[in-house]
Amino acid sequence: MKKTKIIATLGPSSNNKEVIMDMIKNGVDVFRINLSHSSRELTEKLVKIIKKIDKELNTNTGILIDTKGPEIRVNGIANGYVNLYKENTIILTTSDFLEEENMFHITYKNICKEVSVGNRLLIDDGLVELLVMEVTDCNLTCKVLNNCKLFNNKSVNIPDVDLNMEFLSKEDEEDIAFASSLSADFVALSFVRSSNDVLDVNDLLIGLRDEHMQIISKIECKSALDDIDNIIKVSDGVMVARGDLGVELELETVPMIQKKIVKETYLKSKISIVATEMLSSMEHKNRPTRAEVSDVSNAVLDGVDALMLSGETAIGENPVNTVITMKNIIEATEQSIDYEQLLNVHCNTRKDDLTSSISYSVVETANILKAKAIVASTLSGFTAKKVSAFRPSCIIIAPTPNKKVATSLSLNWGVIPVLVSVFKSTDQIVDEALKISKKMLELEKEDKIIITGGFPFKNNKNTNFMKVEEII
Ligand code: PGA
Repeated sequence: MKKTKIIATLGPSSNNKEVIMDMIKNGVDVFRINLSHSSRELTEKLVKIIKKIDKELNTNTGILIDTKGPEIRVNGIANGYVNLYKENTIILTTSDFLEEENMFHITYKNICKEVSVGNRLLIDDGLVELLVMEVTDCNLTCKVLNNCKLFNNKSVNIPDVDLNMEFLSKEDEEDIAFASSLSADFVALSFVRSSNDVLDVNDLLIGLRDEHMQIISKIECKSALDDIDNIIKVSDGVMVARGDLGVELELETVPMIQKKIVKETYLKSKISIVATEMLSSMEHKNRPTRAEVSDVSNAVLDGVDALMLSGETAIGENPVNTVITMKNIIEATEQSIDYEQLLNVHCNTRKDDLTSSISYSVVETANILKAKAIVASTLSGFTAKKVSAFRPSCIIIAPTPNKKVATSLSLNWGVIPVLVSVFKSTDQIVDEALKISKKMLELEKEDKIIITGGFPFKNNKNTNFMKVEEII
């Protein structure tokens, strides 16, 4: 059973019941629906499909809705794409009319006030490079710097300029309210620039009385890195969005930034996600490159909570095969994780609350005894999250009576949520823990499981007990 979670982005290749079901069966824990590409109508339909399949399969699949954020896109390209050649000139316009063949729309209305001659525009994660040659009231005349294909609706990065775009547009606010109305488990915020952006969304969720949806901040620009500690503190998790990050910053800096963010995030017991181009050659091929295998494997060794597939499952030729490949790499790598080292990272972190200190001891004991599972009964998800943050060498089974809590744990490393009825006594917790573990694992004589949780189950907010059970 793998511990690192897989997020699959839905799109034209996977927007149907059969593929979604196959992806869940083969290891997908969370589906991402990207509102930059999916209409509200389609999003609602997909959420219904996922929830129905989840019931059929008795799984607890999470739903992550990705907002548009303050993004700029190029559109108005007839036939979906245009071939561009080095030294060509194209005009990007904010006006409603396309007067010439080489003219396309750009979505940010103030762009001509903020961009100057000599600035670079990078489109489609940097595959299209343009240089601004002339700026008028509503047109940017640009020189093409490389031979490339410009596809419709691709996003634009302007790394040389700090744009004054507001973080939360009216449309984004409505999208977040929409995600909340669908009971989505996670909302991913595109282009977070500071912890204040996250706090604004937190206020919005308080206004919506949504205590369920967790905030994942996408780290994809320089200003976010300048405030990374605070962003991690106020978010439920962060995503290293390598596509935009690799355009906004020098490409070669991204791997170390990724490692640093993953480490900082699990030190603070928050969720970390690594995203983009993990197995991108599999969009068109049935086997990944060796470099991609190493990339996935390295992120797993670093203890990341979840890995995300983007184009691979959204527009790729074989989404299910890609999921299987990722799962195989994860499972093979997890055998070699240095769990002691991952736990040691927490040596100097504060564990002065009851849940942290018990969870730490639970993980240390599980590692020493080579336990087959930790069973962390949880009402709010807190116990399971805390245990997960210490990265034990075994899986964490999380019995919970609440379906929403079960799906909210879908991104946490090593946690396998199981729906149960409310426990009435510690004896019942222990009995059920043994029953569930025996059903999920092939336990043999002398195998050990560690049981932890808070009791009384209903009104204790702390994890307050730990018991080691040996199979007889
Ligand atoms: P996107 O974000 O898929 O929404 O572009 C991920 C990234 O930039 O890496």
